[in-house]
Amino acid sequence: MITNKEEYKMDNNNVAYKTKSALNLGGEQTNRLMLVLRTPPCEYNQCTMCGFDNNAGKKVKLWNIKRQYQNGVSEEDFSDIRRIDFPTAGSFYNDRELSPESRNYLFSEVSKLPVDSVMVETRVDYLTEEKVRESKRYLRDDQSIELAIGLESSDDDIRNKVLRKGLSKKSFERFADICKNTDSPLLAYILIKSPTLSEAEAVQDAVQTADYVYKIANERGIKARVAFKPMFIPEGTELEGQYLSGEYKLPKLWTTIETVKRTSQLASYQPDSIFVGMFDEDLSGDRFSSNCGGCNSEVVEALKKFNGTQELFELEKLSCECKTEWELEVIGELQ
Ligand SMILES: [Zn+2]
Repeated sequence: MITNKEEYKMDNNNVAYKTKSALNLGGEQTNRLMLVLRTPPCEYNQCTMCGFDNNAGKKVKLWNIKRQYQNGVSEEDFSDIRRIDFPTAGSFYNDRELSPESRNYLFSEVSKLPVDSVMVETRVDYLTEEKVRESKRYLRDDQSIELAIGLESSDDDIRNKVLRKGLSKKSFERFADICKNTDSPLLAYILIKSPTLSEAEAVQDAVQTADYVYKIANERGIKARVAFKPMFIPEGTELEGQYLSGEYKLPKLWTTIETVKRTSQLASYQPDSIFVGMFDEDLSGDRFSSNCGGCNSEVVEALKKFNGTQELFELEKLSCECKTEWELEVIGELQ
């Protein structure tokens, strides 16, 4: 994996954190280049598990965004990259966090790249059809914008009381309507193991959430993908407090693997639509979901590979003593 971690850590408004990883787009295995843009802090900033503020900048101007982009793509070989992602510290479509000029600059630059699509993430409050249409005017006709949203859980209590997302189902469905009306695919981020959930409950919550996303997308005839995020502990969050006091325990990676398997068996499932975030935004230090020392790196690599191939056998062939322990604890509860 290519990264520019050291450069990025210098808190420089001209450097976006960059990483490249496998993903599957429309059944084809490719790679994405992700540039985590340094933008001002998220205006909402109430989610109990979010650490993106740690990467926020102050007084980020259009020329900073230009430098971030140019530093990110220069000398990059795009021969095996068909997708570029622009996460920010908050919402891509909040004009006060990222100006319309900055957005338009990014899309006009992307139109020169040999990529098929670009991913941007936003709270629904800032998203309008008009903004998406304006963005699309800067792209080529054969390029699309995947609109991403942090849904996290379809359980209202988990989403709005435990995580404090401030997002109703009605608003999520409005987001899906905007995707439909602007011909944009939808990407929903789903957390694995919100606070208060056991490992078994975490599987059920994430699979139910994926099912909800697919159903909403299928009703509207739009494409949707789900990006599972096994929980990690960013600094300075409420979640960090719960983790340090021992109240919260991170999920095993087996929980994510079980979630992926069950999601792919849903009646509502759309082909080749599962992604597992493997902590490559570099927000977590070393406090992220893991298994035992014996199998961890193999399991992480298998999940990264799965993101490209979408082949379940990559995950089913994994075994370890710690998997047996996990099964004893979790499978009975799962039925
Ligand atoms: Zn193990």
